[in-house]
Amino acid sequence: MLNEASAAQLLHLLIGQTKELAVVLVDLDGRIKWWNPGARHIFGMNDDEIRGELVTRLFPAEEIENGLAGHEITVARAHGVAEDDRWMARGDGSRFWASGVMLALRNEKGELVGFGKILRNRTDLREQLDTLKNQVAALDVASQQKDIFLTTLSHELRNPLSPIGYAVQLIRRTADVTPELDSHLAVIERQTDALRRMVNDLVDVARLGAGKVEVRKEPISVNEVIHRSVESIAPIVREKRHQLDVLFPPTPIVVEGDPDRLQQVFVNLLNNAVKYTPEDGRIWVEGTTEGNEAVIDVADTGIGIPNELLPQIFELFTQAHASRKHGDGGLGIGLSLVKDLVTLHGGSVQVRSEGEGKGSEFTVRLPLVRPVTAGA
Ligand code: ADP
Repeated sequence: MLNEASAAQLLHLLIGQTKELAVVLVDLDGRIKWWNPGARHIFGMNDDEIRGELVTRLFPAEEIENGLAGHEITVARAHGVAEDDRWMARGDGSRFWASGVMLALRNEKGELVGFGKILRNRTDLREQLDTLKNQVAALDVASQQKDIFLTTLSHELRNPLSPIGYAVQLIRRTADVTPELDSHLAVIERQTDALRRMVNDLVDVARLGAGKVEVRKEPISVNEVIHRSVESIAPIVREKRHQLDVLFPPTPIVVEGDPDRLQQVFVNLLNNAVKYTPEDGRIWVEGTTEGNEAVIDVADTGIGIPNELLPQIFELFTQAHASRKHGDGGLGIGLSLVKDLVTLHGGSVQVRSEGEGKGSEFTVRLPLVRPVTAGA
């Protein structure tokens, strides 16, 4: 270790030779007594110009006017140090972003003998920060425009669906429906239903993005919700000749929830299970309770999800099999909707898949209203 005298000498050299750090010594009246060559370089003024001047001279005019320039010394006097990142002024009036501190200097007896200001010119950092802020603001605008686009698109897409459905009903009622026409009409109905579900999901995603979706909670039986969800996808299950099993305890599992919204959650999960499982597959829904939670598993023996996509599978527009032709199309919004709706219910959803071709399993957890008691 160096002795104090040698260290002081080296420190003096350091302060004298640095160009990056400005060191300014200020007396008790706030007047500049000395500064190092680094300060001369950074502030662009010579020693005679600055000696004896108030330290506030180093601040931009508007900060002198609003009294903020003197505030630094007041804080340092009261607390020992004032940490400040702020604009400061050069001799020619130009500004730079300074990052530094104003220290209250005390002698061995603890008496205040002056102040020391140390700072660096970090205009580069400030500019980067400003660029980032502008980018974030631009992203915000882009995101708002996307929300507006989604809202407009989904409403425009919804409008033609009702007349199509109505026209099919009319044909059924008025025309001589041969078995062949009937099967064509059934295709239109099934596809219109799928489209309606997709468009409704799109409307909801747009509304969720804008924080406009509310769930009206009431005590409901999950068994009931699953029953209705399974019913609504029965035609496509039949079409793909899947075997669908529902395994629930006989006593209703009751949660606090919005029946329509929860049905939307399970229809989405079941619909995916049907879509992403090759014909003659197996799908099963299991319900149980764990502690204060209802736990509902929707699993299939389908094409599975690649491991690397599992962490982002609930994000909007994520599609693990976009390049693959499964014929049923999709927008990559269903799972994001599932997650948002389950979260609005105070629950959570998780995914598991051993990988491609090994099936998938989605687990929804919802807070129970009352635990299932055997035989109750
Ligand atoms: P979409 O089905 O409209 O593409 P989702 O948000 O419902 O959108 O699903 C996102 C992606 O997750 C799907 O594109 C698919 O790749 C994958 N996925 C969802 N459910 C399953 C499942 N049961 N089996 C295999 N992959 C699935």
